[in-house]
Amino acid sequence: MALLSNVMSGPRKRLARWSASLLPEVVASADMPGDDGQPLWQPDEPDEYCSRCGMGCGPGAALAQGCHLCVNKTLAWDRIVRLGTYHEQLNEWILEMKFARRWTWARWIGRQLAVRLGPMPTHGRVGLCSVPMHLWRRWGRGFNQSDLIARTIAQELDWPLLPVLRRSRYTVPQSTVSAQRRLTNVHESFERIPMDLTGWEIWLVDDVKTTGATLTACAKLLREAGATRIHVAVAAVADPKSETEFLQ
Ligand SMILES: [Zn+2]
Repeated sequence: MALLSNVMSGPRKRLARWSASLLPEVVASADMPGDDGQPLWQPDEPDEYCSRCGMGCGPGAALAQGCHLCVNKTLAWDRIVRLGTYHEQLNEWILEMKFARRWTWARWIGRQLAVRLGPMPTHGRVGLCSVPMHLWRRWGRGFNQSDLIARTIAQELDWPLLPVLRRSRYTVPQSTVSAQRRLTNVHESFERIPMDLTGWEIWLVDDVKTTGATLTACAKLLREAGATRIHVAVAAVADPKSETEFLQ
C-alpha cells in the first residue's frame, strides 16, 4: 500500500509539475453557453446509454444485463461510464486535446468523469489505471491523454492511480486497421507489471472506446492481476460501424 500511495510522490511529482508549467494553458470552453444561451454540450445521463457496452440506446431501453447489442456477449469489464458519443462537440474537443496540444481538455474530461464514478465503495479498495501509450507515440505527442484524464480523476476522488499496465509493443493506430483486425492488432501489445490487485475494484480509463479491443486487452490483464471488479471510464463511445473519423 505504501508503494501504491507514493506512486506520484517525490521527484516524479515535482517533475510532473515542472513539465506542466512548460505547456500552454488553454481555457476549456465547454461550460460556456452557445448563441442561444444554452450550453454547447452536456454529458449524457446514465439512462441514455447501456451501462455494459456504452452504446446509446435511449432512456430505459437498457437493463442491468445489457442492451440488445451486448446482452448475449461476454465483456471483459463490469460497467462503463461515458460522457457522450464520439460526435458533435465532444469529438472536436477530443481531437483538439490529442492533436492541437489542448491537453487541458483532459482535465475537464477528468473532472466530468469523476463526479460520475464516485463515491468510494464502502468495502474493498478502488483505484484507477489508464490505458498506456507506447513510448514512441507519447514522445511524439508529448503526453498520454488517457493518463492525464486518469490523473485528474485520481486527484478529484483521492483514489490511487496504479501503474499496472505498460505498452510492450508498438502497434499501428487502431484507426488504420479494420474493426475485425483490431483485436489482433493489440494482441500482446500490453503487459502488466507484477502487482497483486486481489480485492481491488479498478477503473480503466481511456479517451475513446470504439470496438473495445484495446480496453478488452487491458481489462484481461487487470483480471489476471486479481482485480475483483473492472469498470471502464471513457470520454466518448464511438459507433464502430459509423464513418466517423477517429484518429489515435
Ligand atoms: Zn449494451
